[in-house]
Amino acid sequence: MTKALGKILTSLYIDSTWFSVLAGYLILKVQGVQGLASDLQWLYSYFNPATVRNMPPQYFIMISKTGALGLGEFPFPEWHKKEKENVLSNVGIEVEYGEPLCEGEYRGTFRTVGDKEHAEIIRLYIEESLGINKIAEILARSSRTPLVQIQRHNKAIERSGFCPAYRRVKSRYENVIAQRNMQSPGGC
Ligand SMILES: [Zn+2]
Repeated sequence: MTKALGKILTSLYIDSTWFSVLAGYLILKVQGVQGLASDLQWLYSYFNPATVRNMPPQYFIMISKTGALGLGEFPFPEWHKKEKENVLSNVGIEVEYGEPLCEGEYRGTFRTVGDKEHAEIIRLYIEESLGINKIAEILARSSRTPLVQIQRHNKAIERSGFCPAYRRVKSRYENVIAQRNMQSPGGC
């Protein structure tokens, strides 16, 4: 139990009698400089105020609804994560950090171009050597859309060496400038 939860229990204990009846026990952890709430100060006749203020985090004071008092300790479990222990590497899990894909969003009648569609536009342009109008037709877009995407793709590569949309898609062409007829010179 955390100190915060101990505090919550303390305030619930004060605010609602039914809760303390329901819970049966009140558990108090280290109280810090604020010390015990005013209606619990009688505990200082049983527990040293310095102890209540500074006791190690695994210690707690328990009060039962019949008025029985106890001082307890949560033992540190053997299997608990140690500070700075790398659990993922210990159990052999490799985490691959990547950005989530941007999906196209509907904005009124217009849908923004998500990463996959961007990648498809660039692929059609490079691999299939399709023109702007043909790509627009295939994707049911205005011809401006592929044009803007190709310009954006090439500018990103010129500026920072890669296209962020392609990097998120984890596909080739993330650092390839889109030019028509790259793979089939003389094509349509
Ligand atoms: Zn791109």
